[in-house]
Amino acid sequence: MRRRNLAPNKKICGFMTKGKREGATEAELGFLKEIIRMLPAAVTVLDEAGDFLLVNDTAAAQLGMQGEQLAPDLNQRRAACLQALQDGRPVVAEEFLNDGDARQVLLTTHRPVRIADRNLLISASTDITGQKTFEDQLFRSAYYDELTGLPSRRVIEHRANALLKNDGAGRFALAFLDIDNFKHINDYYGHSVGDALLVEIAKRLSRDLRESDILSRISGDEFLLLLHPVVSDLEVAEFMQAALKRLSAPFFIDGSEVFASVSAGVSLYPDHGRSFELLRQNADIAMYRVKNEGKGAAAIFDAGMEREATARMKIEQSLRLAILEKRFCCAFQAKVDIRTQAVQGIEALVRLRDNDGVIQAPGSFVNLAVELGLIDDLTHLVLAEIVRSIDAINEMFGPEASISINVAASQAGNPEFMRSFAQALEETGFPKRFMIEVTEDAFVTKTRFQSEIVPMLRRIGVGISIDDFGIGYSSLSALADITADEIKIDRSFITDIHKRPRSQGILRAIESLSEALGMTVIAEGLETFEELAYLQAATRIRYAQGYYFSRPVFLEELRSAAPRTSESRVSIAGRLPQQTRPTYSRAQGYRR
Ligand code: C2E
Ligand code: MG
Ligand code: MG
Repeated sequence: MRRRNLAPNKKICGFMTKGKREGATEAELGFLKEIIRMLPAAVTVLDEAGDFLLVNDTAAAQLGMQGEQLAPDLNQRRAACLQALQDGRPVVAEEFLNDGDARQVLLTTHRPVRIADRNLLISASTDITGQKTFEDQLFRSAYYDELTGLPSRRVIEHRANALLKNDGAGRFALAFLDIDNFKHINDYYGHSVGDALLVEIAKRLSRDLRESDILSRISGDEFLLLLHPVVSDLEVAEFMQAALKRLSAPFFIDGSEVFASVSAGVSLYPDHGRSFELLRQNADIAMYRVKNEGKGAAAIFDAGMEREATARMKIEQSLRLAILEKRFCCAFQAKVDIRTQAVQGIEALVRLRDNDGVIQAPGSFVNLAVELGLIDDLTHLVLAEIVRSIDAINEMFGPEASISINVAASQAGNPEFMRSFAQALEETGFPKRFMIEVTEDAFVTKTRFQSEIVPMLRRIGVGISIDDFGIGYSSLSALADITADEIKIDRSFITDIHKRPRSQGILRAIESLSEALGMTVIAEGLETFEELAYLQAATRIRYAQGYYFSRPVFLEELRSAAPRTSESRVSIAGRLPQQTRPTYSRAQGYRR
């Protein structure tokens, strides 16, 4: 077996183990100097007189030494070295050098040595500027908000806790502020304007604060404000009112005039809580009340609000439970051809069976479901019920009838949900019968609905309908950019249309634009014969939906109302060959 030669290079070994040999040769010393010169660490050697005996290349560069010229930093280094030499002990210290605007941080080890009766100091430094910058960033991100530069939640919490511990600190107020409809602003103007708005709002809010007050951004569009000291509720209320008023003046950002408003809830220590968490929670409850009562104002917490919050909590819990237990069902409302009375399609409208078995309309829970992130599950439940009932649907409304499902605007702009929903629609085996109803906001705000989701639905043959048109944020001119199959004119335009010339004008404009763009127009909420007569006589609108034809109904209701429907459709069609589609008549309601 061959032995490996483990002996190190003899010559280098000679330098390292100086004691074993008499001394280094000239060549060896030159070699050693060369190594020291090239070291990436800065090395200097200083004698007792303060003269540098050695400054390697890295040290010269770090200390800004040109030729024999001593830079100011070198003098600073000399003073530090002389001190270390006097102390006679090794030291490790951080050094700060200024190079123009840039600041350099060095970690330096000074080691006094005695060589040939001389006291010398060997100093070696490593540049740790990068590491320091990183540490600073970490510190800042833990304690400051990067966007606005405001202190973080931790800072305000720490300060509040300090006040809570200090008996003599007295009263203080905690205000929870939330920008109204910030999501709309972000969607409409884009995120960079949204960010700039946050910065401007932070500036305006900070303007009138005292040294002892703290404003912090705690997340997205939420701020927390600590006011200390405070004397009375009135003083706090007045301050908040003035602050919110300042925010109502327009912001000029990126060439746009942006209007914003903020809702605020305030709690006071010790009146509304003796811990930071409770005070924050109660300020949040007060803020929630403002949001529900029209936004853009401030309210101070009171006990009544707490009761409300508890009641709301109960509703939330029961909604979560209802989703878990799938206690939802659908009512169906027909879209009717106003000339032939034929059912062109149906819309599924979700209903909730509450804890007491009472049926609730979506007005009481859909927004809450959106807020709680439960709406996606709910929409899948609606689709599942349609699939389960498809035979009955075909029997009642005909196998050709399109089936519309409502999708909230927030879902429509969420590609992840829409992908899963499109897949579920495709898996039904009859995706072409479906139509998705979304409000116009989904089209005009800067979400990915139009660019990504519409093409995805088109690929599988699902139709797209604009619901409640005319009451959202879009303008008529925005219609030109929208690619939808159907447009449903909001009930507010249809009600008493025969008596309202202005609505008639709007209707005509929507009608001709939609026609030019190839969209089917549906009048929503048609309730009276007069409204129908107007549509028939004065417009080319073909379809309508409304109580005049039928309220939303459950399939079971329809079955029991029309006993003949228990017979098969084929036999009915056989008896009434001229009518292949079900129709509505005003007098009898549903009729075949
Ligand atoms: P929508 O999609 O605009 O549905 C029409 C609403 O108007 C329905 O209320 C319907 O019952 C009502 N309606 C129909 N004809 C008339 C009429 O002639 N007069 C009057 N006064 N009202 C009429 P509903 O069922 O209470 O639904 C309210 C809203 O809830 C729906 O408005 C829709 O935006 C939403 N919604 C319903 N189901 C779902 C769902 O599954 N998912 C989502 N995200 N939203 C849903
Ligand atoms: Mg709808
Ligand atoms: Mg509608």
